[in-house]
Amino acid sequence: MGRAVVIGAGIGGLTAAVALQRRGWDVTVFERAASLEPVGSGLAVAANALKALDTIGVGDEIRELSAIQGEAGIRRADGRWLVKTTEEAASARHGDSVVLLRRADLVDALSARLEPGTVRLNTTVKEVDPETGGVIFETRGPETASGPHPAADHATAPEPHDGTGRESQLEAELVVAADGIHSPVRAALFPGHPGPRYAGVTSWRLLIPGGGVPGQAFESWGEGKVFGVMPLAGGLAYCYATDAVPAGGGGGDQRAELLRLFGDWHAPIPALLASASPENVLRNDVHHLATPLPAMHRGKVVLLGDAAHAMTPNMGQGACQAIEDAVVLAHVAGTGAGPAAYTAARLERTTGIVARSASICRVTRLRNPLAVRLRDAVVTLTWRLAPARAAGAMDDVLGWTPPSTPAKPPAPQTPTS
Ligand SMILES: Cc1cc2nc3c(=O)[nH]c(=O)nc-3n(C[C@H](O)[C@H](O)[C@H](O)COP(=O)(O)OP(=O)(O)OC[C@H]3O[C@@H](n4cnc5c(N)ncnc54)[C@H](O)[C@@H]3O)c2cc1C
Repeated sequence: MGRAVVIGAGIGGLTAAVALQRRGWDVTVFERAASLEPVGSGLAVAANALKALDTIGVGDEIRELSAIQGEAGIRRADGRWLVKTTEEAASARHGDSVVLLRRADLVDALSARLEPGTVRLNTTVKEVDPETGGVIFETRGPETASGPHPAADHATAPEPHDGTGRESQLEAELVVAADGIHSPVRAALFPGHPGPRYAGVTSWRLLIPGGGVPGQAFESWGEGKVFGVMPLAGGLAYCYATDAVPAGGGGGDQRAELLRLFGDWHAPIPALLASASPENVLRNDVHHLATPLPAMHRGKVVLLGDAAHAMTPNMGQGACQAIEDAVVLAHVAGTGAGPAAYTAARLERTTGIVARSASICRVTRLRNPLAVRLRDAVVTLTWRLAPARAAGAMDDVLGWTPPSTPAKPPAPQTPTS
């Protein structure tokens, strides 16, 4: 195998690096940040992504980090369940239930699998050439805590740049742009693409020590608003929320803002918010790639994860699809097929999931009380009258199997009541 450069050490880039390295590629990851520490929040890793992680030997380590979930489902702002299911039902259907964990734990598990010196921190990619696989990058600080840098042999000698940075370049057979939703590489390769669009909601995420409600994970829907609570291992609660407001808000005490919006919702939401630290509340406007890309590659460069198909968080599939991308890419590259085979394997699936996620987002944005009541009634009735159909709605997403694994027969249908 040849040399691969991965741009970005998020979940997508790290998974790609592990998967490629396992197949014998000489991998270098460039990350502009000074550390691998991700935002302090939780993450849902669904059955499809766990199967992908199994192919790189990380799946079981992640399953072990799971907290007991027991009951799970969707509730109203007053606490009444619209849909209630169990961890056992999800596991029976898809072979795995969703694992809820701290983002940092997944990042740690992935980076521990990389050869020392693979990741070069404080290093920003400035330019890529899709024809030659040439990558120009600039380093502005210590690249890594320890270990040799595999790329250093191939890079031109570091030159002083502007007094603080060093600009260098190297060539690779494969360049993986896992540089996130605002991907500069995507913008350079597809200049006609409109880029990310505001999805109409802003989001909050927070981890609350000691707040986990053992055996219960839920997402509650109100008028234009969503609040989710997930128990993580070690008694942590991962909470997230969205509200349909114009982009660009924020600043000030975001815990106070959450208490204003959700302080009269059902237990344990107000108590959780009351015990949260304001400095641990993350707020981000949600953007997505509403217009699909025409391809996920150009020449020797492939786009992966949010760079290729950023989606709203409603299906909890953004990172899961990045993980799928990574193992499919390593498989395709290992067969000698070119980047076009990667586009063929991934574009249609991810485009469909981006669109489905956006339509759930639209439903959660409804503010009109009558529309909200109708929505809630439709959700409840669908699960009551056609539970098998409702439970199977995610089969195509969660029942995915990695390319090297033989496809499993469809899961047995739950009998209708
Ligand atoms: C509120 C919320 C909740 C979510 N919950 C879930 C969930 O439960 N489950 C799930 O599967 N997904 C979830 N997601 C989606 C998930 O967070 C993303 O899809 C995922 O993190 C994308 O990973 P990535 O590696 O593609 O990009 P990123 O994590 O954005 O990583 C990109 C990296 O590239 C680096 N970079 C950028 N440009 C350069 C450059 N020029 N040179 C070097 N480095 C560069 C950046 O510093 C960054 O580290 C959620 C998203 C939100 C907003």
